[in-house]
Amino acid sequence: MDFSLTKEQQMIKEMVRDFAEKEIAPYAAKWDEEAHFPLDVFRKMGELGLLGLPFPEEYGGAGGDTISYAIAVEEIGRACGGTGLSYAAAVSLGASPIYYFGTEEQKQKWLVPMAKGETLGAFGLTEPNAGSDAGGTRTTAVLDGDEYVINGEKCWITNAQYARQVIVTAVTGKDARGKNIITALIVPTDSPGFTIRSNYDKMGVRASNTCELVFENVRVPKENVLGDPQKGFKQFLYTLDGGRISIAALAVGIAQAAFEKALQYAKERVQFGQSISKFQAIQFKLADMAMEIELARNMVYKAAWLKDQGKPFTKEASFAKLFASEMGFRVCNQAIQIHGGYGYMKEYGVERHLRDVKLMEIGEGTSEIQRLVIARQLGC
Ligand SMILES: Cc1cc2nc3c(=O)[nH]c(=O)nc-3n(C[C@H](O)[C@H](O)[C@H](O)COP(=O)(O)OP(=O)(O)OC[C@H]3O[C@@H](n4cnc5c(N)ncnc54)[C@H](O)[C@@H]3O)c2cc1C
Repeated sequence: MDFSLTKEQQMIKEMVRDFAEKEIAPYAAKWDEEAHFPLDVFRKMGELGLLGLPFPEEYGGAGGDTISYAIAVEEIGRACGGTGLSYAAAVSLGASPIYYFGTEEQKQKWLVPMAKGETLGAFGLTEPNAGSDAGGTRTTAVLDGDEYVINGEKCWITNAQYARQVIVTAVTGKDARGKNIITALIVPTDSPGFTIRSNYDKMGVRASNTCELVFENVRVPKENVLGDPQKGFKQFLYTLDGGRISIAALAVGIAQAAFEKALQYAKERVQFGQSISKFQAIQFKLADMAMEIELARNMVYKAAWLKDQGKPFTKEASFAKLFASEMGFRVCNQAIQIHGGYGYMKEYGVERHLRDVKLMEIGEGTSEIQRLVIARQLGC
């Protein structure tokens, strides 16, 4: 029992843990090996209301708060990092921008089916030549009558192959200072000229679907502009602030899984006539791991709480994402160390956590970019 949680948050935790232990964890190693995206599990998560967890009921959601959503990400990530990433991306990147910035009509058309778990969405910002420097986007959208014509490409876009629509950022002009104006557009995945490929062979989060997108004269109606056409850049910065809370929660979940395996193994493994958990060197590792996980979890809850209160949370989301992802890497690494040679073998399932958690230091803003965001928030 976690006494820092409300009754509702505790119930979500138990419900998602139960679901993840039954429907996800037993298959995670196989999905990792086969790079299989578990679409059927997403259908079941939809039925449980998890894909609409932080959205109001009027939009097909469950009316939960951001802390509940972070708890759900952590629990799914504890079972499978790849499924956790796709879940976090579906909610934070696919659906949330439409909830934050969409018109009522766009919410009804695109958000409601996603929140009910009937469809998935994706968010296409990164390009081969514009990653951290997303302002360097080269994809263009040119207005032609009542339609925008999109040309360009995006890389490493989560869930796109299974999505009904992708929110795509594109350059639509230059501002007075000669800087690119970036606009977000909702692009249906069945649009003519829109090609989606998923050929990446990833190090980790292999159950997550990751895609390359190519746009060749893809036409979308003007009504598909998301939010203010001049403010696509600001909008995705806000979207990423929220997304970072979920990536931090995912790092906590993966670290928790690695820690639990290490603790159990340390109690069972006998060397020099006693369980290795009796060696102070191992105890200190486990103590540090437990403490760091708890600290990261609290940072996630604080950032989520600030978001729910409508208070600024950019700095705290970056704190949480940066600390949790680097903590996750340390913890998963130590979990392998505690397993010794067995930890290096796939059979023991700890090496998968290290491969999965590494992505948390890269996606939705690398650790270096988080430090830049924090420094800016400090007024540097
Ligand atoms: C599995 C996976 C899923 C993803 N899902 C999505 C998705 O759904 N949607 C999406 O839009 N993107 C997605 N991405 C892309 C991800 O967000 C980018 O990889 C990330 O933002 C970094 O960009 P980059 O890879 O181009 O690295 P680069 O920007 O080329 O960075 C390379 C290195 O340089 C450092 N660096 C760059 N600029 C600076 C600077 N100013 N100061 C200091 N260091 C700097 C970086 O920190 C990094 O260490 C995904 C990526 C992966 C691997």
